[in-house]
Amino acid sequence: MKILVLNSGSSSLKFQLFDMDSHRVLYSGLIEQVSDHQQAIIAMAEQLSAQGHIDDLTDLDAIGHRVVHGGECFKQPTLINTRTIEAIEQLIPLAPLHNPANVLGIKMTRQSAPGVPQVAVFDTAFHADLPDYAYTYGLPYELYKKHHIRRYGFHGTSHQYVTRKAAEFLDNAYGIKNTRLISLHLGNGASATAVLNGRSIDTSMGMTPLEGLLMGSRSGDIDPAILFYLARETGADINTLDDLLNKQSGLKGLCGQNDMRTIIEQADQGDELSTLAIHIFCYRIKKYIGAYTGALNGIDGLIFTGGIGENSSFIREQVCTNMDGLGIIMDSHKNQVANDALSELQSPHSKVKILAVKTNEELEIALQTQQLLDS
Ligand code: ADP
Repeated sequence: MKILVLNSGSSSLKFQLFDMDSHRVLYSGLIEQVSDHQQAIIAMAEQLSAQGHIDDLTDLDAIGHRVVHGGECFKQPTLINTRTIEAIEQLIPLAPLHNPANVLGIKMTRQSAPGVPQVAVFDTAFHADLPDYAYTYGLPYELYKKHHIRRYGFHGTSHQYVTRKAAEFLDNAYGIKNTRLISLHLGNGASATAVLNGRSIDTSMGMTPLEGLLMGSRSGDIDPAILFYLARETGADINTLDDLLNKQSGLKGLCGQNDMRTIIEQADQGDELSTLAIHIFCYRIKKYIGAYTGALNGIDGLIFTGGIGENSSFIREQVCTNMDGLGIIMDSHKNQVANDALSELQSPHSKVKILAVKTNEELEIALQTQQLLDS
């Protein structure tokens, strides 16, 4: 069975072709500077056929699309038809930067691959069953009813993939069954999720991917009154403030760089703001671990994933230092050498298992697509 996974952005198209018998990637492609999504889909089909994988897109068994925002309508992967497309379009105000391109990718692919089943897999879906006290903000309740203002959470396919892998491992290796896990997806975007028995019960990103941890260029949590203050003092308008919090803040705003490797290098060379940025980044993560340990009434496993979580032993060590009060004790050597799909990092004295798990959002989308079609 061949499943194509598509991630259509506003100016790029990422795609991976999977052989679902072996879960192997047959081909990975990226088309950049997309101005016309139809042309991009044609170029994608040409690449796949030039590599001998298919003659045209109708040879595919299925296509899975990453869709960023599923709002409250989409709690599961969903077969795409005209009604699904209309419902995703209605969610555009909640994700104006992402959903329009996702929809365009879906529409163009449907034209080029008539008859091939297509499935939308939503970044928000894993968090769709958060309890109401975790997703409701302390705002007038009618804002939720009228304007759908609530926590949705993102990075769902990644959190779902790594927590499932971790739960399988903890069961096989230690016989731990009812798992309480904290998943830390640390990439350019970063989020923490509390997962109880395979279900997300709280997550740090909110109505949009701006809330929560410090990120590459996003502020994460701030006092919202800072915005009123800035508007009054500097006359900044909404677009300026949006740009400030989403694009000019976070690690970049603090030390001028958003790439963690560069920031660690700068800190090593004595740059104080880079050191401060790393401290803030790790301290914020520690605070979320504390909060979610409370939400879960203790934890069995702490999972690091995403570009930083998978690759930076330094950041993992900073996060886990002085956490023995919560039963988290890292083994420095295991942390240094970790490089497997799933690596254990805890010392024998640690109550909590510490795992670095390589995420695979595309495979998760392919698996969910296959599962839906098989059901
Ligand atoms: P995205 O959220 O865009 O998918 P990634 O998950 O690929 O991003 O993560 C990108 C981040 O991972 C960057 O900040 C990059 O510097 C960081 N990263 C990758 N490898 C390392 C490493 N060895 N040490 C520290 N940071 C790393």
